[in-house]
Amino acid sequence: MHDTIVIGGGPAGSTVGSLLRKYDPTHRVLILERERFPRDHVGESQLPLIGEFLDEMGVWDKVEAADFPIKVGATYRWGSTPDLWNFEFVPNGELQEEPRPAKYQGQRTSTAFQVDRAVYDKILLDHARELGCEVREETKVARVTLDPTNPDRIANLVLEDGSEITARHYVDATGGSGLVRRTMGVEVEQPTTLRNIAIWDYWQNAEWAVSIGVDGTRVQVLSLGYGWIWFIPLGPTRTSIGLIVPADYYKESGKRPEELYRQAMAEEPRVRELTRNAQSEGKLQTTNDWSYIADRLAGDNWFLTGDACGFADPILAAGMTLAHASAREVAYTILEIERDDHDAQWLKQAYSDAHRRRIRQHIRFADYWYTANGQFRDLVAYTSEIAKDSGLDLAPDKAFQWLGTGGFANDDLGQASVGAYSIGAVKQIAQLFAGEAATWKVNGYNEFRLNLAGVHRQPFPSYTDGKIGRTEALVRDGRILPLTGPFRAVYLALQQNHELAPILRHLDRSVPQGRDVKLGAFVSCLHALEAMVVEGWVTGKLNRKKPTLELAIERETASIRFDQSADLTTSA
Ligand SMILES: Cc1cc2nc3c(=O)[nH]c(=O)nc-3n(C[C@H](O)[C@H](O)[C@H](O)COP(=O)(O)OP(=O)(O)OC[C@H]3O[C@@H](n4cnc5c(N)ncnc54)[C@H](O)[C@@H]3O)c2cc1C
Repeated sequence: MHDTIVIGGGPAGSTVGSLLRKYDPTHRVLILERERFPRDHVGESQLPLIGEFLDEMGVWDKVEAADFPIKVGATYRWGSTPDLWNFEFVPNGELQEEPRPAKYQGQRTSTAFQVDRAVYDKILLDHARELGCEVREETKVARVTLDPTNPDRIANLVLEDGSEITARHYVDATGGSGLVRRTMGVEVEQPTTLRNIAIWDYWQNAEWAVSIGVDGTRVQVLSLGYGWIWFIPLGPTRTSIGLIVPADYYKESGKRPEELYRQAMAEEPRVRELTRNAQSEGKLQTTNDWSYIADRLAGDNWFLTGDACGFADPILAAGMTLAHASAREVAYTILEIERDDHDAQWLKQAYSDAHRRRIRQHIRFADYWYTANGQFRDLVAYTSEIAKDSGLDLAPDKAFQWLGTGGFANDDLGQASVGAYSIGAVKQIAQLFAGEAATWKVNGYNEFRLNLAGVHRQPFPSYTDGKIGRTEALVRDGRILPLTGPFRAVYLALQQNHELAPILRHLDRSVPQGRDVKLGAFVSCLHALEAMVVEGWVTGKLNRKKPTLELAIERETASIRFDQSADLTTSA
């Protein structure tokens, strides 16, 4: 009898196991993985938030010692301009020369890794083993047996050799297979009209588009109009290069995947140049139809985590971030159920609701990206449907604008952001996509009042140091505003003040005062105010005799800049 059995040893499974053991070294965890690691896996480009999870798991030093390239940001060819532009995690992409291995501190908390999943997933699984998880590789769970007296309860797991094993909690971390999800008959929804396919291979000796500091580089995301290419260096010599096209385009082309892939590689000038002296490993793979959300993520004695819960789209490079985030919350939830300090039903429902909302938000944002890419123009009409989902009746052009200026940017992590993009960056991107000026709603007012009519309050979980606390969230018409971080700061400021100047003074006093953090925290509050106005939690009024905010949306800022190394493309 184990306390928890985790099916699947990918990033989600290893994260659940590691955190269970970290916070309760007596918790007996068994991880079952059908493959023997190392094994290749698609999904290599990470986001900075993952550093926080790796640090909490105690595995940062091991991942850093593997010398993966440091992702400083991404170079895009996307939107209304054919120019290349950079999205930077570190302001202006200026990674300081710093020896490696480095600790998770300073500039490295803003960077991410580009990981060879064969190596990364093995480091994580071995780490879970070192923390005391029993790990069995080459052990496939063949069947999940349900409890005959309660069909929402797992009775045991049957392995391929016929043996049966039991636990108090079961975690489905099987990725897209979703073994428990399927056995439990949990439906999935696909809230998107996107139907894409991906074709990818690994390459030896491709050049990096750019080298920054020690081992720093940017991934390349290059639109072809009819689809796009990812270019992700995984180490000094190995690079992952993939092509994404709509499934219809693939069918109509009448071409085989390798033909389409070769054609795209030859057509894209930057990729053509970077792979001039490179050799493919001949491991071409394809996959399709990955955007979905499971209807519920937990049941009587089981949880879904990682891709088993759902997935948005590769364009956001957020799959692994979502996988680690959900796995962390599942581990915390199991620990709390064991402690019996909270109502177990509330814990499961809160996890399920919050993570489903997060995936949905990412799918919306991915849709938004695709609307700005040639072939996907018809999706603009679909943005009306997305707005309707949020209770708004908007014509397609208005809905497109609404999406691009923060309609979805109320993230439950307490920041007005989605993925790695702050609401300010989202507005800049909206300008790039649409080729017309985006706006800040807050600039139009100088009096702000909380609009709490019809709002009810409900407890909302906060996950820290292995424990789940209760914070408060405002709920109205299916929308939720957790009162954490900058949202809380704005909420408190508006309880006492309505005019702009005292609100700003209040926020100024309430943010952390350290020299490096103060400005960023203050800007986050303004972003939160914008999101609260957009979402209707705050109403604004204009007094023409008083000054207003003048937030700008620059074409270039420290986080989004036009690419200076474009000569690479012209020489091709
Ligand atoms: C085309 C494409 C590109 C992507 N690009 C990115 C990207 O750039 N960045 C990013 O962050 N994400 C990306 N992703 C998403 C990313 O790959 C996933 O989000 C991530 O791998 C999810 O981790 P996981 O642990 O949930 O599942 P997985 O990594 O899939 O791990 C599941 C594990 O379960 C095991 N398993 C399955 N069934 C059984 C069973 N019956 N018994 C025992 N073991 C089992 C499998 O062998 C596997 O090791 C991409 C996805 C796609 C489709």
